[in-house]
Amino acid sequence: MEEAVFNDYPPQLSPEQQDYLVTATKDWAIQNGLAVRPSPAILPANADPNRVLATNAPVTLFPSPFPRACFEEAQALQTVYNQLYAAITCNEEWLGSIIKDLIDVDDFVANLWKTHLAVKQEGYVQNLSLGLYRSDYMAHVTPNRAPSLKQVEFNTISSSFGGLSALVRSLHAELLATPLSYPPHPLLKSGTPPDNTTVETLSGGLAEAHKAYGPSKSLPDLPLCVLFIVQDGERNVFDQLALSKRLTGFHKIPVFRVKSNQILDQTSVPTANPARPLIYHPPHSPESAFEVTTVYLRAYYSPDEYTSSRDWEARRHLERSAAVKCPSVLNQLAGCKKIQQVLAEPAGPDHLTSFLNGVDPAIIARLRETFAPQYDLSAGGQGRDLALNPETAMKHVLKPQREGGGNNIYKAEIPDFLRAMPESDWKGWVLMELINPAANAENVALRNDGEVLRGNVISELGVYGTVLWENTGKIIHNDQGGWLLRTKGKEVNEGGVAAGFSSLDSVLLY
Ligand code: ADP
Ligand code: MG
Ligand code: MG
Repeated sequence: MEEAVFNDYPPQLSPEQQDYLVTATKDWAIQNGLAVRPSPAILPANADPNRVLATNAPVTLFPSPFPRACFEEAQALQTVYNQLYAAITCNEEWLGSIIKDLIDVDDFVANLWKTHLAVKQEGYVQNLSLGLYRSDYMAHVTPNRAPSLKQVEFNTISSSFGGLSALVRSLHAELLATPLSYPPHPLLKSGTPPDNTTVETLSGGLAEAHKAYGPSKSLPDLPLCVLFIVQDGERNVFDQLALSKRLTGFHKIPVFRVKSNQILDQTSVPTANPARPLIYHPPHSPESAFEVTTVYLRAYYSPDEYTSSRDWEARRHLERSAAVKCPSVLNQLAGCKKIQQVLAEPAGPDHLTSFLNGVDPAIIARLRETFAPQYDLSAGGQGRDLALNPETAMKHVLKPQREGGGNNIYKAEIPDFLRAMPESDWKGWVLMELINPAANAENVALRNDGEVLRGNVISELGVYGTVLWENTGKIIHNDQGGWLLRTKGKEVNEGGVAAGFSSLDSVLLY
């Protein structure tokens, strides 16, 4: 793309034009469910005691330019990534050998592993696992070269914003098709964001698991359902409802929502039935019962959600049941940042080739190309030097084994942060080279409190995939489809929409 075109994007807005776009976006968002519940910071509890209000999700007013080649490469690799993470999850020995080092220093990982071991000892009764994944990338810019696709991270649990990302795409497409929504600009004339089938893909994965579960294992037979396990006070509820609406409306599968702190009250596993079906007892209809085919976790990915041993008991209760878990404990652990660092190691065993048995080596090489350099922090290792030297630390991010945003340490803060921690704990963290996304683009964000921000931005692309497999390694269903663009101010280190750093966006491919 011509530099000049890029630099003038998006076009300047007069106060009247901005007002028009903001009003159109706010109204479209509520009309179409591109919405979130407001945070207490925006709306104190006493201003909405019955919790009836919603506001627009944070969105950009314009779609952002994104290199077509990177976008297409991310889609092309997704089913291979799905296969990779299914294979890792099936290899308990390999996974365990890496998790072993984390267990000493990370209670959360240790408790997840313990949960797996307890169920393993009793014997798993479900050999199917379901993954709903999101692989996140940035378009990495190096001088005099076309941008290349680099992975930020791979998510194996609670991969969110599938529902809302499809809506942002529709919002921008509709604005583009409406005369005078935007001031004229060549880029805005040249196209529309590509289709976004995330809702179909993710609900399609859940439907496959539901079908593969087979008939009721209860006596007498019970009707079957899918269960969404959600956080108490979840603000991103409309994103989740986009998936359950599709499951009930299109796939004709009943879906119920259970808060993680009510799992043990609202579900049971009958002791007399060795098949261990998970039974859901709807509190709003005490005489009814459903058998759960698939447990979809939109909770329990972060240690602060396990407030007592009761939460760990609930997690184990789900894990030992016959329901297909999305994800299983092992699949959640496969998503640890540490695993991503080990996969990216340039020397040593070729893990990718072992896990991707039968995949064309040329495809494996392309997948490897998406890795940014990552290091452990072992004594005498390169990672330690890079992290402790203030100059090289500036080019890196330090990551713990956590999800959901807000957990990383960046650049200049890395050396002191590490030095303040006992050296024996360093192995719980990985050091990753910062990806360098194009930062000359601008956009305008409408935050969920109505604030409008304009400035230089960087964007992160997420690509969704779903895979269903047997623990023997046999893959039953492997699909990709749908994407997410999150855009944040250039100077912001962290990402994440729910964490308050980014806005939902869509792409104009160039
Ligand atoms: P989480 O699982 O908490 O989302 P991430 O690895 O995605 O953790 O890191 C959070 C955010 O930090 C990302 O959304 C991105 O904005 C930023 N980030 C992480 N790794 C990198 C990297 N290598 N280069 C640039 N930014 C990064
Ligand atoms: Mg993550
Ligand atoms: Mg992330």
